[in-house]
Amino acid sequence: MECEGKRRLVFWKEDWSISLKLSIVILLLLFGLIPMALCSQTILNSVRQSQIEARMVEVQNQAQILSSKMTRTGYFHGEGQDFMDSEIVTMADVYSGRVVVVNQDFRITLDTFHVAENRLNISEEVLRCFQGENSSRLNREKHYFAQTVPVYDGSPGQGIEGVLVVTASTEALTGLTDAVGDKVALFQVILFLVMVILAAAAAVFLLRPFREFQSRLNHVAQGALDTDISGGVYREIRDISDAVGKTIDKLRAVDQSRQEFVSNVSHELKTPITSIRVLADSLMGMGEVPVELYREFMEDISDEIDRESKIIDDLLSLVKMDKSEAELNIAQVNVNTLVEQTLKRLRPIANKRKVELIFESIRDVTADVDEMKLSLAVTNLVENAIKYNVEEGWVRVTLDADHKFFYLKVADSGIGIPEEVQDRIFERFFRVDKARSRETGGSGLGLAITRNVVLMHKGAIKLSSKDGEGSVFTLRIPLNYIA
Ligand code: ADP
Repeated sequence: MECEGKRRLVFWKEDWSISLKLSIVILLLLFGLIPMALCSQTILNSVRQSQIEARMVEVQNQAQILSSKMTRTGYFHGEGQDFMDSEIVTMADVYSGRVVVVNQDFRITLDTFHVAENRLNISEEVLRCFQGENSSRLNREKHYFAQTVPVYDGSPGQGIEGVLVVTASTEALTGLTDAVGDKVALFQVILFLVMVILAAAAAVFLLRPFREFQSRLNHVAQGALDTDISGGVYREIRDISDAVGKTIDKLRAVDQSRQEFVSNVSHELKTPITSIRVLADSLMGMGEVPVELYREFMEDISDEIDRESKIIDDLLSLVKMDKSEAELNIAQVNVNTLVEQTLKRLRPIANKRKVELIFESIRDVTADVDEMKLSLAVTNLVENAIKYNVEEGWVRVTLDADHKFFYLKVADSGIGIPEEVQDRIFERFFRVDKARSRETGGSGLGLAITRNVVLMHKGAIKLSSKDGEGSVFTLRIPLNYIA
C-alpha cells in the first residue's frame, strides 16, 4: 500500500501514467489565467489607444483655437505677433511638444525648439495643408504624433496664409498606462498564487471520493473480499465499483469453490484411510484369527487402497486438465475402433453385472482427437452406465456424425438421475447416492473429468434422464480440431 509520506505530485510517472490531481490543477489554472491575462492585456491596449486619441483631439482643438486667434490678430501681417508667439510656446510646453509656424513661402517663422527658424519646410503634410487638408499622424514606436492645422487669412474666400505644424509626445500617456499595467501584472501574480492554492484545494476536494474508493479497494486487495465497495458520489465511481464488484463476486465464487474442493478432497482421501485403519485395528484386536478371516480383511483393505489410488489418479487427471497449458495430443483417430476397444475392456465388468453392452455404429468416424483423453471420457460414461444399471440391463453406445461433428450417445436402462440434481451431476465429487457410488468404487470425479475432456475438444455434453428409467449422455465433438 502506498504510504502517506510517499505521496507527491508527479506528472509523468515512470510507467507514463498521469497524475489526475496535477492535471486538474493545471487545467483550472489554464482556464482561469489565460482568459484573465488576455482580457487585461486587451483592456490596457484599448485604454492606451483611447487616451492617445483623446490627446490628439485635444491638441488639434487647441491648435485650431490658436489658428483662429492668429487669423483674428493678423499674425502673418506683423500684428500681435509677440502675444501669439508666447501663446504658441505655452501650448508647446503644455503638451511637451513642438510647434512650428510656416508661412505662405514655406518658410518657418517660428519654431518653439528654435532650431529651424527661417528654414524652408516643404514637407508633404505642409503642402497638403496649404491645399486645405488637415493631417494627423501617430508614430507609435517613437511615442509622438504630428498634426498640421491651416491658418486662414480671414477673407471671405478663406485663403490660407500659413500652417501650424504641431508635434506632441505621447510618452507621458504611455507611462501612465504602463504604471497601470505594472499594477495589473502584480495583481495577476497575486491572483495566480491564490488560484494555485484554490485549484490545489479543489483538486483535493474533487478527488476525495476517488481516494476513498481506492482505500476500499486496498482493503479488498489485502484479502477482505467482503468489503463493500459499492456506491460513491460520482457516477464514474459507481460504474467502476459495479464492474469491480462483479469481478470480486467471481473471485469470491472461485475462492469458495476452491475451499469446497480442498475440503472435499481431504474428506474423500480420508474416507478409505479411515476404513483401512478400522479394518487393521479390528484385525489386530482379534488375537488368534483364522486365515480365511485374515484374508477377507486383507481383501477389504486392498479394495480401500484401490479406491484411494483411483481418487488420487482421477484428481491428478483433473488437475492436469485444469492447467491452462494443458495440452491435447491431437491426432487422426478412428473413433469406432476407440469405442470398440473401450467396450472390450469393460465387457468383463458388464458381464459380472449381467449388463448387455451394445455398440451401434451408424457410420465410420475419423476425427482429430486426443486418443487417451477421449478414451478416458468414454470409459467413464460406459462404466457409469454399467455401475448405475439394473440386473440384466443394457447399455447402448451409438456413434454417428455429420459434416462437422461426431455424436457419441451412451444410453442405459439404469436407475436414472433425478431431474433436480441433473444440473450438478458434472460437479467434482457430486454423487446422487453416496453409498452406491462408494459400493461401486467411484471417486465422484468421473463425470467432471469427462466434461473437461469434451470442453478441451471444443465439444459439448448433454444429459437426458428420468429417475428410474435410465439415462442418456450425448457427446458432440468437432471432427476437425481448431485450436
Ligand atoms: P462416481 O465415481 O461416483 O461414479 P461420477 O462423476 O462418474 O462419479 O458420477 C457422479 C454421480 O452421477 C454418480 O455418483 C452417480 O450418482 C451419478 N451417475 C453418473 N452416471 C450415471 C448413470 N449412467 N446413471 C445414473 N446415475 C449416474
